[in-house]
Amino acid sequence: MEQAVKTTCPYCGVGCGVIATVGDGGVVSVKGDPDHPSNYGRLCSKGSALAETIDLDGRILHPEIGGEPASWDSALDLVAAKFSAAIAGHGPESVAFYVSGQLLTEDYYVANKLMKGFFGSANIDTNSRLCMSSSVAGHRRAFGSDTVPGTYEDLELADLVILTGSNLAWCHPVLYQRLAAAKERRPGMKVVVIDPRRTMTADIADLHLAIRPDTDVALFVGLFAHLVSNNAVDQNYVAAHTSGFAEAFAMAAGVSFGDVLERTGLPAMQLREFYRLFTTTKKIVTCYSQGVNQSSSGTDKVNAILNCHLATGRIGKPGMGPFSLTGQPNAMGGREVGGLANMLAAHMAIESAEDRDRVQRFWASPVIAEKPGLKAVDLFQAVADGRIKALWIMATNPVVSMPDAGAVEAAIKACHFVVVSDILKETDTARHAHVLLPSLGWGEKSGTVTNSERRISRQRAFLAAPGAARADWWQLAEVAHRMGFADAFAYETPAEIFSEHAALSAFENAGSRDFDIGIHQGIGHHTYDALTPFQWPQPAGQVSMETRFFADGGFYHADGKARFIAVEPAETDRTNPDYPFTLNTGRIRDQWHTMTRTGKSARLSSHIAEPFAELHPRDAIEIGVGNAGLVEIESPLGSAVVRALITERQARGSIFAPMHWNDQFAAKARIDAVVPSIVDRFSGQPASKNVAVAARRFKAQ
Ligand code: SF4
Repeated sequence: MEQAVKTTCPYCGVGCGVIATVGDGGVVSVKGDPDHPSNYGRLCSKGSALAETIDLDGRILHPEIGGEPASWDSALDLVAAKFSAAIAGHGPESVAFYVSGQLLTEDYYVANKLMKGFFGSANIDTNSRLCMSSSVAGHRRAFGSDTVPGTYEDLELADLVILTGSNLAWCHPVLYQRLAAAKERRPGMKVVVIDPRRTMTADIADLHLAIRPDTDVALFVGLFAHLVSNNAVDQNYVAAHTSGFAEAFAMAAGVSFGDVLERTGLPAMQLREFYRLFTTTKKIVTCYSQGVNQSSSGTDKVNAILNCHLATGRIGKPGMGPFSLTGQPNAMGGREVGGLANMLAAHMAIESAEDRDRVQRFWASPVIAEKPGLKAVDLFQAVADGRIKALWIMATNPVVSMPDAGAVEAAIKACHFVVVSDILKETDTARHAHVLLPSLGWGEKSGTVTNSERRISRQRAFLAAPGAARADWWQLAEVAHRMGFADAFAYETPAEIFSEHAALSAFENAGSRDFDIGIHQGIGHHTYDALTPFQWPQPAGQVSMETRFFADGGFYHADGKARFIAVEPAETDRTNPDYPFTLNTGRIRDQWHTMTRTGKSARLSSHIAEPFAELHPRDAIEIGVGNAGLVEIESPLGSAVVRALITERQARGSIFAPMHWNDQFAAKARIDAVVPSIVDRFSGQPASKNVAVAARRFKAQ
């Protein structure tokens, strides 16, 4: 008999609802959930192909120690012993977890609790550091909290949607479908795309601003100055609800229209039109994603955007506001539980003694991390130089996805003790594990995820666990038991963890900050199982609500006001005569991250089957490479060899290459091997969009 289960897509941050049906003979089919408020039945190519990616080929079916099969008991005993020994011998800063936006919130919660409350270190970071940590830092500076005020419906209600550093058509396809449909329904609606590349998203743009890489700060600082000089500032709003306007304007006033033209490389007519649209349109949403976040000035870019929305009071109202789009399915859930090295649980601040005390008392934990831990790039540097003695990597493949990927691989190889929890045995990272632990995959695991619009949805199991695979939270809790923390980790179900997470969000009014799902504390298994998608906050006592953050003009700094941040355009051109091209890495429509799952679908690979680099036709002529010829892209770190795709969508002097492929596909297919570890100074997010490289026709030796 057929069994249909409502669950959530495990790929991008749109967080679409999926109905998975297991038919006779165990054949799985998927379709969009018409009742899910994020996608109303739509799915993109990746979501539609989910059933093609869940076979058992390549799965880890039992724990392994040193490549040999082992029992759970012996593997977990060894992990506990090694972490205990490292902490006893070298202190809590000698251990680290590197986790993932693929984890469910319940997994994330347990990992964060164990590291911060029981090991006493904050060395837990996540691949979400590579995704949206600049937005987190920008929100905290401006709002006093990491609050995303936007909803997907705002894009449909706006009269002007600005997409900056966001290839929505390929990276958040269902949200793009919703926007395109709204634009068709409402012909007066305008879309502006700001991106050095003419991506597929630009196809629906009324105005495409092909700015030079990383010049977004100049563009939005110039806009801020333009708003002031054109009397477009909402003075009442600024006076009542913000501070820091004068300092921010003093900085912006030094950036003239001519400066913006020079820095961005835009034609004056286009820049004037953009500024006119922003000045004269009431309902504006500005969406931003990796093109903003993955930059050495990512946090300043975010605040330059927020300044313009605060100056005009266009925030906290239907169809108006800044909107950071998360890349991963549970990047937002990770933020809620504090699964980043510089955050505490439930949006509390690790820098605050009061917050640390509150969390420690709630957990009844022996210790609490006193200071922020190592962010991703620093964490792997600490692995490389031997400071980290025991490392646990969960649900991610940093050997392909981290910048300076070759150095990350060497660091992991040299580490004293590495645990990898994953579903596949042969990932580039898993092959270096001393202990390999089989995790549950999509369709097997059960918990919650939160999407870009703060909507919490259930991922439900509809397949039996293969072999001895177990949930990530269970693995962590078992290690905690073996390290002497049995009482604090006595979970039997994800519902119990979710309940505790909800209770912490409301503990001693902690949730007055912003994140509060107190209504769900004490949730029973049946209610948890039946949870329908909802947006936070949902404080105790509120039956049903969808709050619009900042609607009352209140923010989360101590004085209740938002902050303007004085930001200054930085030097953005990294090229030099040896490395004259600018490389920008990103995603393609039909693959997800390092392709460990989407790579299984022949249908998905039929769109683009090989790693490639997009080049402008004149650049291709200059380096002597033809379409589909091999091009070698080189930085001081190394080189990658991929096929040339010659297109006028690419600006002269710039190259785009996807980050999905690895060296298992072909020698030198891994583009992140040429990307250096330059990071934003506030967020620690790596800058993957503006890398100086050389490019030449590849000649086989
Ligand atoms: Fe999945 Fe994102 Fe596609 Fe929705 S848009 S189906 S969440 S990959």
